[in-house]
Amino acid sequence: MSTFLELGLKEPINKALTDLGYEKPTVIQEKAIPQIISSKSDLKAFAQTGTGKTAAFSLPILELLDSNSGNVQAIILSPTRELAVQIGNNIKDFCKYLPDVKVTTVYGGSSMEDQIRSLKRGSQIVVGTPGRTVDLIKRRALKLGNVQWLVLDEADEMLNMGFKDELDKVLEATPDTKQTLLFSATFPREVESIARNYMTDPVEITSGQKNQGSDNVSHEYYSVTERTRYPALKRIADLNPDIYAIIFCRTRRETQEVADTLIKDGYSADALHGDLSQGQRDSVMGKFRKKTIQILVATDVAARGLDVTELTHVINHKLPDQIENYTHRSGRTGRAGNKGISIVLVNGKEKGKLRPIEKIIQKKFVEAKVPSGKDICQNQLMSLIDKVVNIEVNESQINEFLPSIYEKLETLNREELIQKFVSLEFNTMLAYYENAKDLNDLSSRDNSRARTENENMTRFFINIGRKDNLNPGKLIGLINEQNIGDKVEIGSIDILDTFSFFEIDKNFEDKTLEAFSSNQPDFDGRSVNIEITKKERSGGGRRGGKKPFAKKEGGGFGRRREGGSSSSSRRSDSGSRGGSSDRRSSDRPDRSSGSGERKSSGGFGRKRRDS
Ligand code: AMP
Repeated sequence: MSTFLELGLKEPINKALTDLGYEKPTVIQEKAIPQIISSKSDLKAFAQTGTGKTAAFSLPILELLDSNSGNVQAIILSPTRELAVQIGNNIKDFCKYLPDVKVTTVYGGSSMEDQIRSLKRGSQIVVGTPGRTVDLIKRRALKLGNVQWLVLDEADEMLNMGFKDELDKVLEATPDTKQTLLFSATFPREVESIARNYMTDPVEITSGQKNQGSDNVSHEYYSVTERTRYPALKRIADLNPDIYAIIFCRTRRETQEVADTLIKDGYSADALHGDLSQGQRDSVMGKFRKKTIQILVATDVAARGLDVTELTHVINHKLPDQIENYTHRSGRTGRAGNKGISIVLVNGKEKGKLRPIEKIIQKKFVEAKVPSGKDICQNQLMSLIDKVVNIEVNESQINEFLPSIYEKLETLNREELIQKFVSLEFNTMLAYYENAKDLNDLSSRDNSRARTENENMTRFFINIGRKDNLNPGKLIGLINEQNIGDKVEIGSIDILDTFSFFEIDKNFEDKTLEAFSSNQPDFDGRSVNIEITKKERSGGGRRGGKKPFAKKEGGGFGRRREGGSSSSSRRSDSGSRGGSSDRRSSDRPDRSSGSGERKSSGGFGRKRRDS
């Protein structure tokens, strides 16, 4: 393994890297840096986020550029505003000891005038999103006639997001003599075609095998049905009290709904997708980076700009439409030498998608079982005990309180003290999971003829339905809000257009009626009422006849784990955003990014704008 100096970088750059804690080059840096320094050949690099690719392309540029000239010598294009800002900041860090090197980052959603002013002062390196870069070229504020390096970072994502026209325009504005450096995690047809049309005999380098996932990531799948997908997700989160994860969803609506339901159930979670404003996205990402929230529910595109190296899990709530994107998702964990787990929740139909993904990542998915209530309690208890063992005691701070505490606990022996302390922390959770069902028993859960369990349930009619934006998660939330009882079991749910049905443990029949009648809840401005219905099903409904699913899951201990203050801040976070009311619900895959809104433009098809 070489050092940065041995790769051909000068001392001021090496010093800045030492300050950043970069001790030795990563694989992609070891391959790309000497190649770019020593050759003008174009370069095609297979590299995922997290491999150190930003330094791989920017360090040789810093080594070679002429800091006495104010001309733009390098233009770096990246798909999202967040990524552009991150690259710009990384490069500024790298040139800490190169005072004459100036970097300007240009992206939509921010003052064009400020960016023009910065360009006028003279920058050798410009980092930009494609839309804003093209706008500035058109205004003649950005001149690329002297460019020596064009970097296309995350080229697959830029094409995925519809930036083909913008890439063409930037390529046209640069001289033929430039060196093109193309970095991409995947090489679908469109990226290969860019490489073919705009690059001359490119040298290929890779940070691993093409499209292949990191060795540090293990891949697991859980078999679910639509009914158990969410409870399974929660059990996975509950099994891992220190989880720090991104849950990937396909659409903005799915993203918001999963996040809303997790928040309602007391988890430290929030949503990130293209329907949020730039300010909202920045705020959510900031909180996730600082670990104020543990779980980020995100679309593929919205999560692109997020640079976090310590994710414990990536969870595919639904697999991506394009299976190549699985590599992007799973590559978010197992970074910077850490181990990570990429989890996929699949129903019977989706299971068929696993094989082609295995071929791409060249690894097998391991089947995992949805944890039982006992597994979860065991894990949570042991995690707490480990924390107790490892906590540092600050005697000077607690000394003055200890005598009165010892006095109060005088009558308890060691065993009693331990039992009480564990019960205080865990009674809610133990009760909650006491009768939790086995979510791996898919056959009986989906057996629509199996009616026997329903004999113990009462079926209620409720006067709200799909048109009121009701879904099973929200209905469970509404029922839980009525405080019917900690151990109430919620059974089958049928959401219809204007009304719905749900089942409740027969023993809670009266309490349920009483609670709804005295609380008089409303849902999205509609007052809610319920009635007991006959046992017969609505007939022919998709969910008709299914067994009740596990007793209401989630709730109290999720919050306890985090501490009260964090929970209340979570709630106000989502509240300050106006909950789901400010979003344009969409079932389309999220193609909008941090960089701006999509607009449609006449006969030229859809066009991206990031200004
Ligand atoms: P990137 O793939 O460029 O997004 O980099 C991923 C993360 O790895 C960033 O947080 C970098 O700061 C960090 N990183 C990049 N190169 C090195 C290195 N040689 N040593 C330590 N950390 C690095």
